[in-house]
Amino acid sequence: MVKNRDNSIEINKNDFKKIGYELIDSIADFIATIDKKPVTLGEVPSSLQKLLGTNSLPEYGKSADELLSETSKLLFEHSLFNGHPKFMGYITSSAAPIGALADLLAAAVNPNVGAHILSPIATEIEKQTIRWLSEFIGVSSNYGGILVSGGNMANFTAFLAARTAKAPKNIKSKGISNSTNQLTVYCSKTTHTWIEKATILFGLGTDAVRWIPTTKANQIDEKILENTIKADLKNGCLPLMIIGTAGDVSTGVVDNLNNLAAISKKYDLWFHIDGAYGVPAAIIPGLKNLFKGIEEADSIALDPHKWLYSPLEAGCTLVKNPQHLIDTFSSHPEYYNFTSTEGEVAQNYYEFGLQNSRGFRALKVWLTLQQVGKKGYIKLIGEDIELSKLMFQLAKQHDELQAITQNLSITTFRYIPSDEKYKTDETYLNKLNELLLNKLQTGGEVFLSNAIVNNNYCLRACIVNFRTATEDINEIIEIVVRVGREIHLNLCQN
Ligand SMILES: *Cc1c(COP(=O)(O)O)cnc(C)c1O
Repeated sequence: MVKNRDNSIEINKNDFKKIGYELIDSIADFIATIDKKPVTLGEVPSSLQKLLGTNSLPEYGKSADELLSETSKLLFEHSLFNGHPKFMGYITSSAAPIGALADLLAAAVNPNVGAHILSPIATEIEKQTIRWLSEFIGVSSNYGGILVSGGNMANFTAFLAARTAKAPKNIKSKGISNSTNQLTVYCSKTTHTWIEKATILFGLGTDAVRWIPTTKANQIDEKILENTIKADLKNGCLPLMIIGTAGDVSTGVVDNLNNLAAISKKYDLWFHIDGAYGVPAAIIPGLKNLFKGIEEADSIALDPHKWLYSPLEAGCTLVKNPQHLIDTFSSHPEYYNFTSTEGEVAQNYYEFGLQNSRGFRALKVWLTLQQVGKKGYIKLIGEDIELSKLMFQLAKQHDELQAITQNLSITTFRYIPSDEKYKTDETYLNKLNELLLNKLQTGGEVFLSNAIVNNNYCLRACIVNFRTATEDINEIIEIVVRVGREIHLNLCQN
């Protein structure tokens, strides 16, 4: 008989409070001093493995108190801090502290947001979050959607909906091999790698991707796009969708969405926008023109864990007609309208996407949206852009730096030694900047990433960071020049 279970997993109320308060105290200290720490220690895997040791799975348990205090120390001392004011690599934001508390609360209640009956209030909160995200980026609040783990999943979810909508009707039962026409999709050559994974995952194969060249402005070349569609139609292909990018991952360029919407209409194609990074900037009144056409999209991917400052993981798929998600992901089409006992329609998120059991990731997004508000986001996103422009200006003014691109909150630039002999040696400059980036990434003073622009190896700073201030930008310029000189001195002597 199992009675009055004295188990090793439950934590009694007083212990929970004590351990919890201690954890919260140490997290509060961590956040308050994050700017004083190195961004990263750049430790090699083997030294980290030493910290963990090689013990087997523990035979017996250990106190939660001890585990959590040891583990906080481990994480606070050996992590890369993307919440540091000088972290601007790739596209990972500082995480809103309320998001950490939200995740704790969500895990404590632990609703399964796959079905309404298992997550009554959480499902409604996710629905409201989706509606607010639509309003945020300026599309109709009739868009429906779902929160997923990130941009890749958000794009996959939309991709499969597009396939269901535009491929032959029997594709769900017969599969892709039954189609004699090659299904094709169209995107600029700067599109993120998710597109290749999507065509592999959903059976089209990577040959289905028509990589369209870009113009001088780095936008998809619409003329070539249209000619490619026409040629494919002539050759018996079955074009499915056009993918526009709203903030490309390297340099932040936004395609002309309005024109892409028109081309999609003309050829009856699905119009998807990958706005994983950039689309939240549509909230800035002065940028409305840049995002014109967004309201025509059949689907949009965006990442709250990027420019909405949500902690990882939170991505989102928005679909103009959410019925397309149900058509794609519901395996019981006869039960389209789930009715609760009260005769109301209840939304079951397992029918909207790939996951079945789902966590409550909406909570952190929902709370941050309310904590910051529309005005607050306009200010934060606007300042990120302003700081990025400042960095571009400073690079432009500096004799040993070359400013390359500036779009949204991404600036690319490179170090150029003052030495005449090397100034125009592109091979040397590429090598120099690659070494410089490697040095910066492990040095801990600042974290940047790289971009290749017109065959030039550049440093790339993407500011999605509410902790970054003007001072940081000034200091980063100094750091880059100082380390750039060191690397050059070393390199030119070899
Ligand atoms: C970041 C990004 C992705 C991938 O998103 P994850 O959240 O990393 O999965 C896709 N497309 C664009 C444009 C991105 O910026």
